[in-house]
Amino acid sequence: MTKHSIFDTQALEAFRKEHKLQPYRIRQIYKEIFHNFVIDFKEMTALSKDLRNKLEESFEIISLEVEDVIEDDETSKFLFKTADGNVMESVLMYHFHTEQRTLEKKLNRITLCISSQVGCNVGCIFCVTWKMGLKKNLTREEILSQVVYANNYVKNKYGKKVDNTWYSIRNVVFMGMGEPMLNYPAVKKVCWFLTDTNYFGLSRKRVTISTSWVLPPLKQFLADDLPVSLAFSLHSADQKLREELVPTIAKYYTIEKLFAALDEYTDKTGNKIFYEYVMIKDKNDSRELAHTCGKLLQGRPAHLNLIPYNQNPAIDLEESTEARIKKFKDVVESYGVPVTVRQNMGRKAKSACGQLGYEKVQGKIIQKPCVDPNCDCKKC
Ligand code: SF4
Repeated sequence: MTKHSIFDTQALEAFRKEHKLQPYRIRQIYKEIFHNFVIDFKEMTALSKDLRNKLEESFEIISLEVEDVIEDDETSKFLFKTADGNVMESVLMYHFHTEQRTLEKKLNRITLCISSQVGCNVGCIFCVTWKMGLKKNLTREEILSQVVYANNYVKNKYGKKVDNTWYSIRNVVFMGMGEPMLNYPAVKKVCWFLTDTNYFGLSRKRVTISTSWVLPPLKQFLADDLPVSLAFSLHSADQKLREELVPTIAKYYTIEKLFAALDEYTDKTGNKIFYEYVMIKDKNDSRELAHTCGKLLQGRPAHLNLIPYNQNPAIDLEESTEARIKKFKDVVESYGVPVTVRQNMGRKAKSACGQLGYEKVQGKIIQKPCVDPNCDCKKC
């Protein structure tokens, strides 16, 4: 018998009625999954054995198979297999701080980077993921399963905090495989689950959609007023250079059109936008381009995040030097724009930004990115 996902609320309600369960039973199940991070019905000891068995027969909590986990000091990368045999990745990032008095390194917060698609067809030249091509859009259940599984993993790895609550994911970012706006219907549902207090209960600031942006879903996103933060992949404030860096869409969705839409978003919501900028040596890191970037973001509710380029197979690019990044930062800040430089995490495990799919791509023939945003060949 095919099992329903536990996120299929209609199926769960039908199950409740069929078995004449009180509504509080459903709340108990959710508490086990979203507060106690249990991913096996057998471990839900607040429920009777009979109910656990019935749930087991009809539902699944995780709609993915874990193929591998690759660890380094700061990250855990999960390779998940979908029921139709595709493999995609999510990354847990552990942020530590050093206690001043004892000099002890303590876990401060945990971020999960999730995928919305298997592969990608946007073709950013600094990213290895598009070289897999786009295999498929992930379903709501497949995206949510990444979060549920990762929370259980964190619980087993780190246990309880001093306040007796479990360590858990504090931030979820759509920065894994894929362009979330190209799988917007599923991403939208996921965002509601992530922020609804009946489920994950994360605040608006703790869920971020990162996008290179395709304009049509933006209109819908504005209308929906999703309770999430927005990060925009800028990479260059110069139109011509952006077309080179993000070749599939930048030509069609120009900086001018994008900023008209982004301004509409900030005017309507009052939210700040985080702009992501991968720093590539001798490509987009010059003083002149820093001024172009500063001028573009000046006066807007913006925060610029500079990301040193992460090395990839078969991509002939280098990361900017520390000195160059510092100069770029100083110039943009002189326009009154706050700038941070992202800490490099997960390079050893090939789980850093732009490296997802590394193992799949290594040694394979490299495709050329498709330049038509309406292409439906399913290969690019
Ligand atoms: S950076 Fe993101 S949007 Fe660009 S190719 Fe990689 S996965 Fe796709």
